[in-house]
Amino acid sequence: MKYISTRGHADRKRFCDILLEGLAPDGGLYLPVEYPQISDAKLTELRNVLANQGYAALAFEILSLYIDDIPADDLRALCAKTYTKEVFGTDAIVPVRTLEGNLLIEALSNGPTLAFKDMAMQLLGNLFEYELTRRGEELNILGATSGDTGSAAEYAMRGKKGVRVFMTSPHGRMSPFQQAQMFSLQDENIHNIAIEGVFDDCQDIVKAVSNDHAFKAKYKIGTVNSINWARLLAQVVYYFAGYLQATTRNEEKVSFTVPSGNFGNICAGHVARQMGLPIAQLVVATNENDVLDEFFRTGVYQVRGSANTYETSSPSMDISKASNFERFIFDLVGRDGAATRVLFEAGVAEQGGFKLSPLMVEEAASKYGFVSGKSTHADRLATIKDCYERLGQMIDTHTADGVKVAREHLRAEPMLVLETALPIKFAATIEEALGRQPERPAKFDGIEYLPKRVVVMPSDVEQVKAYIQQHCD
Ligand SMILES: *Cc1c(COP(=O)(O)O)cnc(C)c1O
Repeated sequence: MKYISTRGHADRKRFCDILLEGLAPDGGLYLPVEYPQISDAKLTELRNVLANQGYAALAFEILSLYIDDIPADDLRALCAKTYTKEVFGTDAIVPVRTLEGNLLIEALSNGPTLAFKDMAMQLLGNLFEYELTRRGEELNILGATSGDTGSAAEYAMRGKKGVRVFMTSPHGRMSPFQQAQMFSLQDENIHNIAIEGVFDDCQDIVKAVSNDHAFKAKYKIGTVNSINWARLLAQVVYYFAGYLQATTRNEEKVSFTVPSGNFGNICAGHVARQMGLPIAQLVVATNENDVLDEFFRTGVYQVRGSANTYETSSPSMDISKASNFERFIFDLVGRDGAATRVLFEAGVAEQGGFKLSPLMVEEAASKYGFVSGKSTHADRLATIKDCYERLGQMIDTHTADGVKVAREHLRAEPMLVLETALPIKFAATIEEALGRQPERPAKFDGIEYLPKRVVVMPSDVEQVKAYIQQHCD
């Protein structure tokens, strides 16, 4: 399998080459030259693999369709090491449960940081260690986080050979639970840097360091952001696992509703559907930051400035532009790299957006199954309350956005809402909705009282560089 850029660059790369890279050289995102097709017989085989050998074996089957530069036995071992009950809490890894009627919930949030990003990041940690060891190289991951991504990256990379993590976060602005999760890690290769500023300051520091090409090359600076193809690929697996749990025959279809921000999670659903997995609808659920809902309703993709990016009670979806969206647009415009380049260079980069014709919006729905909806703080509270008081299930704020929007798109086939986090991560809003605290998994008891490993720094690029330098020898 070879990989191409969404902006038409002539390079054809293999999986392990793009694994450690971010954007393609022309600023595009990587996609496979084609989506492998799953025949009816193959789907039956996968159904048996999941039933008899479990999630890790299913992951190997899917991944091996896209990865041909890691020996099969090694890839199988990497999957087996990643998707264990010990790390993800259950044998099913992504158990599906009924909320009510044909509205189901697929739990993606039982990993080490209780959010769905663990599903991909845990695999990425093992892939990075494997590939860096094979090459005899090192990588220093520099990131900015306001919560979920940073902690998922740290829990995935802790103790891994050849990898260090330098994670900046806005000092004092994450929830106490999120701070405790990150800062209690005592691993030598994990560095928490609390910046006296806001999340944008952290992001600016990361950008400034990455733009210093000499520094970046000398200190082997890399990232783990959501545009990484390996992360997306790892996510494709749980769409198969969800489908196979919710159906007994290949003639049946299901739909998925996905709480969305950067379009990474649902883009994996799009890939699964393009492979032939019988998915009827892919429902994009946004919060008040409704860039994506606006697009799927009107064809207008208009990125927002920071003044129009709202802080909400489903904060992991507070985005101003959807960094993975370009992958879907590339497919929508017929995999035309030149057309995609115009939309994202002349359009997004220069004009802040673009508008596609009503015909294209219609095609996003009819040919690709995409529809959308939006949920607000009031919707979130009402949905959390309804699910708890009437249905006896406590769900987190992001999942509540999903359930609210899923209900507007219910049809005959089962609808799976992806549960992207557990309520304990967003305790204040749960308290607001229910008047009680969410339950805390036993392994997190007293986490706030553990010793913290973090340095506090002013928002100053040079100081961050000096810190990295000091810790790379
Ligand atoms: C990251 C995240 C999302 C959004 O996922 P995207 O891939 O950015 O669309 C939703 N919910 C939670 C809890 C998250 O951490």
